[in-house]
Amino acid sequence: MQLERLFAQLKFEHLPDQLDAVCEQAAKEQLAYPDFLAKALETEWAGRNRKGIESRMSQARFPQVKTLEAFDFDFQPSIDRDVIRQLSALNFVERAENVVLLGPPGVGKTHLAIGLGVKAIEAGYRVHFQTLDQLMQRLKKAREENRLDRTLRQLTYSRVLIVDEIGYLPLSRDEASLFFRLVNRRYERASMILTSNKSDSEWGEIFGEQVIATAVLDRLLHHATTINIKGESYRLKEKRRAGLINNRGEASPTNTQPTPTEEENGNAGD
Ligand code: ADP
Ligand code: MG
Repeated sequence: MQLERLFAQLKFEHLPDQLDAVCEQAAKEQLAYPDFLAKALETEWAGRNRKGIESRMSQARFPQVKTLEAFDFDFQPSIDRDVIRQLSALNFVERAENVVLLGPPGVGKTHLAIGLGVKAIEAGYRVHFQTLDQLMQRLKKAREENRLDRTLRQLTYSRVLIVDEIGYLPLSRDEASLFFRLVNRRYERASMILTSNKSDSEWGEIFGEQVIATAVLDRLLHHATTINIKGESYRLKEKRRAGLINNRGEASPTNTQPTPTEEENGNAGD
């Protein structure tokens, strides 16, 4: 039938299944022709967008899905929620600027980075998440297999690259220069969101010797919003509430949970 053929030619995937319902609704609401057409096209668009979001979400490789809506700003007053609100409008992505989240373990750096990533995905951008450690393994392996250039190119496809957990291990000179190549490729072309448990004055040291570190920081920070989070670990708060540790952050003698020092220093993820 003619309609089916047109749907196939136009590659409409979602409207065909919902057409009966859309027509019924349009009749009930006595929609004018243009309004009916808008409703039908909207139905198709919503379906496509949902699929796009789902596939970009899985391509992003987030360790967990976290949203800005679920972030408790009252718990972390050192974060200016207006700055996060502005960032979530994604002008920084449009302008290929960076975001740097600094602060001690557990204060929500990874959560905010992923939350911004989810916003970007919903707006149609491609996002990719990696820890610095994973990124380094990947670049080194690519170089061994003579495909470094291709991998660097692949790493520029996403409009937002999240590099998590900078500073747990210092980079060797060789690693720092690999990282520099990546940063240089993305510079003024596509955004990066970086997180580090090091302070403002310290986190540059991780990029190895001064010449490379300066070159990396120069590009990363040229157009960047830096958010310094000073506060308590949310993970500790949850444990304290559960009575697993006391107010000084020490494990209570009756339980066998790891002490917060071990957990917070050794385990960067959840
Ligand atoms: P960081 O990356 O700074 O070490 P995370 O972002 O991994 O910290 O946060 C640790 C855990 O606590 C995560 O499960 C995160 O979702 C949660 N969390 C941290 N801060 C908040 C907050 N202000 N509101 C809600 N959840 C939070
Ligand atoms: Mg983290």
